[in-house]
Amino acid sequence: MKEIPYKIYLSEDEMPKAWYNLRADMKTKPAPLLNPGTHQPMAAEELAPVFCEELIQQELDNDTPYFPIPEEVYNFYKMYRPSPLVRAYCLEKALDTPAKIYYKFEGNNTSGSHKLNSAIAQAYYAKKQGLKGVTTETGAGQWGTALSMACSYFGLDLKVFMVKVSYEQKPFRREVMRTYGASVTPSPSETTNIGKKILADHPGTTGSLGCAISEAVEVAVSTPGYRYVLGSVLNQVLLHQSVIGLETEIALKKYDIVPDIIIGCAGGGSNLGGLIAPFMRDKILGKADYRILAVEPASCPSFTRGKYAYDFADTGMVCPLAKMYTLGSNFIPAPNHAGGLRYHGMSTTLSQLYHDGYMEAVAVPQTEVFKAAEKFARCEGILPAPESSHAIKAAIDEAEKCKETGESKTIVFGLSGTGYFDLVAYEKFHDGKMDDYIPTDEDLERSFKGLPQVE
Ligand SMILES: *Cc1c(COP(=O)(O)O)cnc(C)c1O
Repeated sequence: MKEIPYKIYLSEDEMPKAWYNLRADMKTKPAPLLNPGTHQPMAAEELAPVFCEELIQQELDNDTPYFPIPEEVYNFYKMYRPSPLVRAYCLEKALDTPAKIYYKFEGNNTSGSHKLNSAIAQAYYAKKQGLKGVTTETGAGQWGTALSMACSYFGLDLKVFMVKVSYEQKPFRREVMRTYGASVTPSPSETTNIGKKILADHPGTTGSLGCAISEAVEVAVSTPGYRYVLGSVLNQVLLHQSVIGLETEIALKKYDIVPDIIIGCAGGGSNLGGLIAPFMRDKILGKADYRILAVEPASCPSFTRGKYAYDFADTGMVCPLAKMYTLGSNFIPAPNHAGGLRYHGMSTTLSQLYHDGYMEAVAVPQTEVFKAAEKFARCEGILPAPESSHAIKAAIDEAEKCKETGESKTIVFGLSGTGYFDLVAYEKFHDGKMDDYIPTDEDLERSFKGLPQVE
């Protein structure tokens, strides 16, 4: 047995040269995006005013297993990748568990999360198409930050619509975006028709991701030389994020490590989808059997309490309909929810896999998540993002089960980012001002009423 180091690094040469498209190996493909007006599958031509051409090809391709990573993207990856796979020796010791715990850490770049893996790819394809710029939305700001770095690298203009409450209360990521040259507008705003309408209907609203998406799409389709880009949920994003899982697979193989359980937090599903991609491939093909576990907030439980149905992706109902586990596009988590992962829906790919029984999901209350975050920070030294801490919580729970049964299982989880800009949430936790409001069945029934009728 080779001794396993604290950190398993790959050399530049060992980094994956192609992204892996899990859909190519799925027995049941994810349901197609539908035109919100006609309910017919969206054709590439219909998506072209909104999205970049090559990204549309990636979005709609259920057959090609590998997409070469363009050299320009690969060179950018080399600045902050490969990311380390860390053996959590200190956490194992603190838990006194026979389990072996590993985490893949994606927080080692200025944006502080995995989102840069897709941001740089999307900016590259926009530039290649000769566009002037792109638009997007951001909630707490991780995606906007990552995209602003990517756009500045390729010399693209970036217009970000940032959920108003975050714009006002979370100035730090906003300023990182502006440092990289992005313009940041609080949403809803008076600069778009949909923004004006939302403000007229709901005066004083502090905004939501769904509103910000609608505004960003409106600006993209009405400004020549611009397209809209999105940082999660879409197939193309999971494709780019597969670099996380592919690196993990290579690192594990170096030391003949075979995981038993693979865990990730799930908001729209991109870091989880990326981490599990090659492992899910082997599971689908019957070459290996892993337990794959998605962890979501109890206050925004799309997998565990949502419906598997076609739904709107945005509040303005301008985006295609997606079949996914959803809480309804009108669902907004309780105001006291501080842990991120607030999107009402879930990646169509992961939704289909969950529906077909290839993965499990668990919902965890936020105070438990922050307790786990604190425990992890004190052992492993990294201050985790609240989102990532959902995965930490589930990994600790699994390790504690191993302690009871005496089994020494191998657990791999995704540590999707750092929490330096989320200290207001940590503050709430430390001051005892955080509660665990969990939506009631009545709350959910109310928002399910807004689901579109698609037969
Ligand atoms: C955005 C984000 C998430 C959630 O998004 P997914 O698409 O579900 O991965 C998780 N962790 C971090 C650090 C994030 O920034």
